[in-house]
Amino acid sequence: MTHKLGGKTVIITGAAQGIGRAAAILFASEGARVLAVDINAAALAKLEVEHGCEPVVLDLTDGEGIAAWAENVGAVDVLFLCAGYVAYGTIEDCSDADWAFSFDLNVTAMFRMIRTIIPGMIVRKGGSIITMSSVASSVRGVPNRFAYAATKAAIIGMTKALAADYVGHGIRCNTICPGTIETPSLEDRMRASGEYEATRDAFIARQPIGRLGHPDEIAELALYLASDVSAFTTGQCHIIDGGWSN
Ligand code: NAD
Repeated sequence: MTHKLGGKTVIITGAAQGIGRAAAILFASEGARVLAVDINAAALAKLEVEHGCEPVVLDLTDGEGIAAWAENVGAVDVLFLCAGYVAYGTIEDCSDADWAFSFDLNVTAMFRMIRTIIPGMIVRKGGSIITMSSVASSVRGVPNRFAYAATKAAIIGMTKALAADYVGHGIRCNTICPGTIETPSLEDRMRASGEYEATRDAFIARQPIGRLGHPDEIAELALYLASDVSAFTTGQCHIIDGGWSN
């Protein structure tokens, strides 16, 4: 059986849990060398033992740390930038610190990582960059996601700009816009609401398909975008949301 990512080196951020972890496991099973980046060292160690992913313990808000690590990373074929943070609330709830942290982790870390990796892709005349946006972005207005949606819309703009700038270098850039996906952080947010069942029902009700999405479903879309099967796709928002935005 041929592997879809055989011979490819992949960086995945936010690989310790949720969608990033599902992608790390799937990509490794498809023959990729997976460099799994996260701040959670213990979860990365488990990913290494169980799935052979190489752990990279890095705080993505540390620009100098990213630059120092990336200097020696070598050839990278696929960059899947999945780490992100959900700030809740309206503009009235949003402090300067919430706004700044949301942009630091969701947007600036992505920009810095791409800036360090893209020169190598240019030299090798190819690569696939996959960013993680959300339906809560320029795709759709969602209540109480003011800062989050601003960052996720910025990611769509950044992805499209990159795709336009580097299409002539054989580098493709696409973004994924998921609906509500059952991940550890979503579970934490449902518990933190103090009304677990009602919050869960409300999250489910957003998807006309009638359920939450699964991290493996998003990982399969990321695999498609990472592999050469998607060679004719660039600059696009790939919405996967159980019909929410329809
Ligand atoms: P999650 O919140 O469960 O996990 C995020 C990962 O990022 C964690 O492993 C965490 O340790 C890591 N991380 C956080 N801060 C970091 C830092 N400073 N440096 C390095 N790593 C750090 O993730 P998830 O729910 O699977 O979401 C993944 C992505 O998908 C996010 O960008 C999120 O916005 C997006 N998304 C999620 C959903 C959803 O419903 N879960 C929906 C749409 C979009």
